[in-house]
Amino acid sequence: MTEQRRVISEIIQMTMGHMTAEQIYLAAKEKMPTIAMGTVYRNLGLMERAGEIRRIPMPDAPDRYDKTTRLHDHLICRKCGNLEDVCIKNLMDTFKEHSDIQVDSYELALYGICSACLADGK
Ligand SMILES: [Zn+2]
Ligand SMILES: [Zn+2]
Repeated sequence: MTEQRRVISEIIQMTMGHMTAEQIYLAAKEKMPTIAMGTVYRNLGLMERAGEIRRIPMPDAPDRYDKTTRLHDHLICRKCGNLEDVCIKNLMDTFKEHSDIQVDSYELALYGICSACLADGK
């Protein structure tokens, strides 16, 4: 593993949230001032293909990167813009009831208010 990849991996594993490539780049730059944006993108792509991280395509916004690779969904907060992990059980079972189609995976975007913003509003 290259030094750059180790730094990028550490940043993703240490964050609780879902960072954009630019946020990861800025955090990496603090540890490794010479790192280039292209290097960050290239390593993110490698790590995604290796199954170490998950890329979350966002509608009308930059992709986010997630250290949690198991199947889960995301609530996109309309107040703070953060993503919160949501586990919807049995959604794959629902797909199985449709025997005329085969679903292998899905990307689901939920919109609303995250738990932190809800707690703030009280
Ligand atoms: Zn929020
Ligand atoms: Zn997540």
